[in-house]
Amino acid sequence: MTNEQLWQAVLGELELTISKANFTTWFRDTFISGYIGNSDVIVGVPNVFTKSWLEKKYTKLIAKAFAHITLNKVRKVDFRIETKESAEKNVGKEAQQREEESARKKEAVEWKKTDVAGYREDHTHNHTLNEKYTFCRFVVGSGNELAHAASMAVAESPGVRYNPLFLYGGVGLGKTHLIQAIGNHIKAKTSRASILYVNFEKFTNDYVRAVKHGTFQEFREFYRSVDVLLVDDVQFMLNKEKTQDEFFHTFEALHQRNSQIVITSDRPPKMLSELQDRLISRFEWGMIADVSIPDLETRLAILKSKCEGKNEIRLNDEILQYLAGQVKNNIRELEGALNKIIAWHNLHREELTLEITKRILSNVFANPSQGAINSRQVIKVVSEYYEINVNDLVGASRKRELVLPRQVIMYILREELGSSYPLIGNDLGGRDHTTAMHACKKIERKMHEDDRLRQQIESIKQRLYT
Ligand code: ADP
Ligand code: MG
Repeated sequence: MTNEQLWQAVLGELELTISKANFTTWFRDTFISGYIGNSDVIVGVPNVFTKSWLEKKYTKLIAKAFAHITLNKVRKVDFRIETKESAEKNVGKEAQQREEESARKKEAVEWKKTDVAGYREDHTHNHTLNEKYTFCRFVVGSGNELAHAASMAVAESPGVRYNPLFLYGGVGLGKTHLIQAIGNHIKAKTSRASILYVNFEKFTNDYVRAVKHGTFQEFREFYRSVDVLLVDDVQFMLNKEKTQDEFFHTFEALHQRNSQIVITSDRPPKMLSELQDRLISRFEWGMIADVSIPDLETRLAILKSKCEGKNEIRLNDEILQYLAGQVKNNIRELEGALNKIIAWHNLHREELTLEITKRILSNVFANPSQGAINSRQVIKVVSEYYEINVNDLVGASRKRELVLPRQVIMYILREELGSSYPLIGNDLGGRDHTTAMHACKKIERKMHEDDRLRQQIESIKQRLYT
């Protein structure tokens, strides 16, 4: 546990025993300035008032909370007037610089790597699959029955039945969910299968890098050695002749060795009109299934299933009916509307009625694209929350105070929007996808230990959806 985490834990304890007003008044801007020999604590405080007040009133409580959390007896609690920045100038800055330096080096090494293992590590294969997209969580109904059945068949016996499987349909209708469910299913069944999920943009980026660094051989070997290749959103292929060529050869190689290929697109192969004919014909070799807009009943079932995942709330049928009736074309927006009323409920703790629901959602339906949040909104809300300029957040600066907000943005983009790591990197001013991956994992880990952070993210989400 770092001192920061330790202090957050101590504050968490104190918060339970002190009135809220006192807590915020006296503990704001405090931190651990030193923790020596597991027994002597120095608390950094912002001014002399706080110092004397804490000394008088809270020394014992702080010692107790410390002992409780660390299981070490506390001998001495001292207070020192300083700011976090000045304290960190000496210790923290160094550590931070070291961390940044090593991250930079790692990134550099990753792209210098000329062996296939380098690519492998970069993709860390299965890690790009999002565990929340499973068949269990996919509601089958009108509009997606065929796509679902075909996906299941492929997941059960990859490379055998339908190869390639081509899924297409409009935005927010479950393509990414299905293609990832295939990957997750195969991964759970055969842990040794090498499964690669890429957004087509990632394939393009890798290809461009291979050209730039002269690591073609490795690029090819890497992509052509997987057992299952899942390529999301191939419509990004349009207008990219060279990448199309490369993808064609990848496809051929994989198909020949019976590796399963699954492709998604926002339109059927025939409508990818500027695509090379040979690619279109390959796409039509196997099975083509569309996901289309689900009927009211299916939309209701999806809402109910999403509510089950959020057990803090019970919505009556009237409200669900209303929602399902209003948002027809996009499941992501349907989820967005649901999240919005849940956030409202969590904030106000009032019973939700149909009237209130209508009011909350009125601006969403007046302007449907507001139902679902987008990455720009996420960045804006987080920047406002932490009071940091958007340009700084997406810029190149490595200032310490930007680190956490950036990571929070990446985490929310991943969790709430289901964005791919390359896309997240892109949204944050063209950062590498490994940075995004690292950030998401880090926040996820931290949230388990750090109530504060969890609350911060909860409030950010509330602002996003209300
Ligand atoms: P697409 O890739 O087609 O744009 P996604 O797969 O990202 O759409 O789906 C958008 C959101 O809707 C995701 O959160 C997904 O889990 C959810 N979703 C879509 N269809 C279903 C379904 N049939 N059952 C449950 N959730 C669904
Ligand atoms: Mg998608």
